Amino acid sequence: MKLLHCTICGDIVKLEKTTNKCRCGSCGGHYREDGVNAIYYGPAVPIGFVNSEFVTAIEDQPEYGNGLGFGAFSIPKVCPTMVHIDIVDYIAVYDYTDGFVVDEMYDDMMEEAELQKSKSKLKNVFRDEE
Ligand SMILES: [Zn+2]
Repeated sequence: MKLLHCTICGDIVKLEKTTNKCRCGSCGGHYREDGVNAIYYGPAVPIGFVNSEFVTAIEDQPEYGNGLGFGAFSIPKVCPTMVHIDIVDYIAVYDYTDGFVVDEMYDDMMEEAELQKSKSKLKNVFRDEE
């Protein structure tokens, strides 16, 4: 998981496939379609979580006592999967689907279409029997 630490406002922003910005708006970024490579702008230090350790820390959250640690690291200034660009070159990615990922929405629609098809087939069977 990649995040941005804004050096102006101190906000931590999680990167997603659509643009997320820090509280003050100085930095922001997004993941490219592959979900691995990311692009960001502004005065930010990119941060990475060790995904497997993060997931374990969430899943195995202790009831009491010490918290469960996980690995986090600053991503190098020059990193092929985390590209820093100038804000004027940055093209923001907006979510026009109100929180739904387009691919998932399409899958849901196909599922719904299959369901309707099987229902209408069922209706036809009953109609034939009448
Ligand atoms: Zn900021």
